[in-house]
Amino acid sequence: MNNIKSEKIYSEAVKYIPGGVNSPVRAFKSVGLNPIFIDKAHGSKIYDVDGNEYIDYICSWGPLILGHSNEDVLKGVEDALRKGTSYGVPTQIEVEVAKLIVQAYPSVEMVRMVNSGTEATMSALRVARAYTKRSKILKFEGCYHGHSDSLLVKSGSGALTYGVPTSPGVPEDVVKDTLVCPYNDLKSVEDIFKKQGSDIAAVILEPVAANMGVVAPKKEFLEGLRRITKEYGSILIFDEVITGFRLAFGGAQEYYNIEPDMTCFGKIIGGGLPVGAYGGKREIMNMVSPIGPVYQAGTLSGNPLAMYMGHRMLTILKNNREIYNDLEIKAEKLEKGIMDNLSKLGIAGTVNRVGSLVCMFLGEGPVDNYDDVKRCDVENFNIYFKELLQRGILVAPTQFEAMFLSTAHTDDDIEYTIKSNYEALKIAFNK
Ligand SMILES: *Cc1c(COP(=O)(O)O)cnc(C)c1O
Repeated sequence: MNNIKSEKIYSEAVKYIPGGVNSPVRAFKSVGLNPIFIDKAHGSKIYDVDGNEYIDYICSWGPLILGHSNEDVLKGVEDALRKGTSYGVPTQIEVEVAKLIVQAYPSVEMVRMVNSGTEATMSALRVARAYTKRSKILKFEGCYHGHSDSLLVKSGSGALTYGVPTSPGVPEDVVKDTLVCPYNDLKSVEDIFKKQGSDIAAVILEPVAANMGVVAPKKEFLEGLRRITKEYGSILIFDEVITGFRLAFGGAQEYYNIEPDMTCFGKIIGGGLPVGAYGGKREIMNMVSPIGPVYQAGTLSGNPLAMYMGHRMLTILKNNREIYNDLEIKAEKLEKGIMDNLSKLGIAGTVNRVGSLVCMFLGEGPVDNYDDVKRCDVENFNIYFKELLQRGILVAPTQFEAMFLSTAHTDDDIEYTIKSNYEALKIAFNK
């Protein structure tokens, strides 16, 4: 494997783009490498500019549930492109995509398209605050909701404290209304609501946390959040930017049978183009301009090309529900294979999996919240990552992201991955 071309592009990239990348995790910095630059991808395989082939488990961080450049998703996209790329005046395809989302999510009666997941969560919170006439929001440690100011907070000291900005440039004033609790800790939510429940506009969470590795929610946790928010008149927002149309066609809310008041989407609904959306009960969405007073807009929102791709994607998923069962079977095989490898090698570790989101944590399990995640073994992971890469397997360059399975991953891919996982772990841990 050589990286001559990638290295050359990277040396140019850093001159013109901060860190040479347009989103930090692409930099491979956490594993002490320079990034590979991609030329093309097809199915489960991705190819870098030096011609190296990898089985891809990043899959654009979630959108590509049908694999790269899927022919069925791409069908007709050239015709759509030639009809024009943006009008700034509405199109029918926007209505069709909205209808598909509303039909799949009983909790969503109306939906507004935006351009990213970040915009979706930011806008949903604005609407929730306007609807409840309250300012405070509650989020959970280790949950990522995009990079907007008020959500860019992790808690230093757990429940019952105000948020501390995670990034310079976020004024403390902006995050003073952001409360943070540990994931899966209902007691801390109850405590915080007892004190300030009548000021809390919304509780926002990833119904399956998939940005601190993968952490499944306890059923009582989700049920408890639904009960408490109802009791206090707060809006429960599910950030389904990853889980939406992935865990089931109806997302995590179908998977766990819990209805939030509002839902955020992204990733899969754009079929690989930049899209986000937020929606909820009609009464809440009636707050949004131009029918309501809450301003939210976008030059490229509902972009016809992105909507076309999203429509193809959602239609294929809708008409082929067996996809979810197939993914479950493949993901379970991968989970079992990695678990077996860990135990054969006598390495402390655990695999968290929900549907087609799979994550190996190195260290003592179980991993149920951000504190558990932080205890994981990072050094050995870095060696493991490099060994996998050498064997033609691309996983996220950090332990704290999911392996995203797609329908394009074959049984052979999974078997080869399990075998390589064994070899890479063996070397990383000197076994
Ligand atoms: C990716 C992600 C976002 C942000 O979406 P962008 O399109 O990157 O802005 C928000 N929430 C969750 C759960 C995500 O995984």
